[in-house]
Amino acid sequence: MTQTHQDLAALFAAHKAAVPARRVSFDRHARLAALAKLRQAVLDRQDDIIAALAADFGKHPVEVRLTEILPILQDISHARRHLRRWMRPRRVLPTLMMIGTSARIEAQPRGVALIIAPWNFPFQLALGPLVSALAAGCSAIIKPSEMTPATSALIADMVADCFAPDLVAVVQGGVEASTQLLALPFDHIFFTGSPAVGKIVMAAAAKSLASVTLELGGKSPVIVGPDANIAKAAKWIAWGRFINAGQTCVAPDHVFVHASQRAALTDALQGRIAAMYGADPATSPALARIVDDRNFARVTGLIADAVKAGAKVVAGGQADMGARRLAPALLEQTAADMDVSREEIFGPVLPLIPYDDLDVVLERINAGPHPLALYVFGSKGLAGDVVARTTSGSVGVNLTVMPVIHGNLPFGGVGTSGMGAAHGQAGFAAFSHMRPVLRNRFLPMTLLFPPYTGRVKKLAKL
Ligand code: NAD
Repeated sequence: MTQTHQDLAALFAAHKAAVPARRVSFDRHARLAALAKLRQAVLDRQDDIIAALAADFGKHPVEVRLTEILPILQDISHARRHLRRWMRPRRVLPTLMMIGTSARIEAQPRGVALIIAPWNFPFQLALGPLVSALAAGCSAIIKPSEMTPATSALIADMVADCFAPDLVAVVQGGVEASTQLLALPFDHIFFTGSPAVGKIVMAAAAKSLASVTLELGGKSPVIVGPDANIAKAAKWIAWGRFINAGQTCVAPDHVFVHASQRAALTDALQGRIAAMYGADPATSPALARIVDDRNFARVTGLIADAVKAGAKVVAGGQADMGARRLAPALLEQTAADMDVSREEIFGPVLPLIPYDDLDVVLERINAGPHPLALYVFGSKGLAGDVVARTTSGSVGVNLTVMPVIHGNLPFGGVGTSGMGAAHGQAGFAAFSHMRPVLRNRFLPMTLLFPPYTGRVKKLAKL
């Protein structure tokens, strides 16, 4: 479906026109009802969601349930359960100069939101921000990814079934549709995708000074300490890296392993890959496909270039180009100047980098762009040290990926990995303007207004 610029401008104008009425009518009950409708639609269309994700990139039904359906259902239940508290105006105490007033902070819907979603979790990352937008009382136009057409069409269908087009609408299309939407003066833009496009989004937002939430990516490192439980670490690292065939923003992107644990970790990871995907992982239905030929060539190219420059594939890497399936690969002897060490891999490839000195590892991490996630396996002391001496969007200790699933934790990046936060109350806040309302009860400030007589001068000295 192609929409002209005029169509999009008209859609946006309809959303804008509905804002004043919605400020009153889209109260807590209406928001709860909208969220309940969305929840029911997700429950009713589970088979369609599974089929769409299978068509788009061969995801296993269990993985679809775990990573696309359950997170949305959880987001909706969490928002419904806590909405009253999130919306409640927060009273604040007067400061000394403000005695004689009462003050509160009211969460006001920002207005009309634009949600731009990526392809890697195309259902969850389009509808998750919508849950927050609706909870906050905003209307939304969603631009899902053009690279997952079956899921994007399904989202459009579900949204049209659930909502009036001036409350939630879906615009399908690629860069062109995205660019046209970004030219409209939205009140808030919630973008999930690459840091490169994040910059384009922020520059576009600057034209109308729209607020932005940017959920971006980057290389998320893992540190495995000398005291780590290797069997447990391998379980979490292999799962986090290879779920969705490594096409996960918070996936462990490379592992710094203490030299004393290198051989044990390599063995344990190989064992986990075999346990999860069998003897021939490239044919396993549990392993998702690489989303398209371009990305397949990019990921296999990263391996080939690394090998040419001296790296070793110690396991996996078998590629079925026609099916776009790539057996989980473990790399060793990579160097810091290889592309595989510098670019976000976004595929089922895991470099293992032995270290002796933690200081060197932390220096390397701190010299690069701020990671979206950072994981540490080992003692409390090691984790505390790493947390204190680095920055990242989030930290996972003795686990991977899970911080993104925790409904009570804000999820977001820092610096090039993002700006602002999503999920739960943080997501509600992203789509809200926290508006102070200050009421005068008996504020004696008028005593200090001009003319500045001797009495005023005396008082102002206080
Ligand atoms: P992408 O930035 O290429 O595309 C994201 C969206 O932006 C798509 O809807 C696309 O149509 C649109 N877009 C692409 N180019 C554009 C342009 N020039 N102008 C305007 N819009 C444009 O990202 P992707 O390839 O879909 O996703 C992968 C990236 O997303 C990775 O970097 C990953 O780490 C990141 N990501 C981050 C999170 C998070 O929550 N932080 C989640 C998933 C993915």
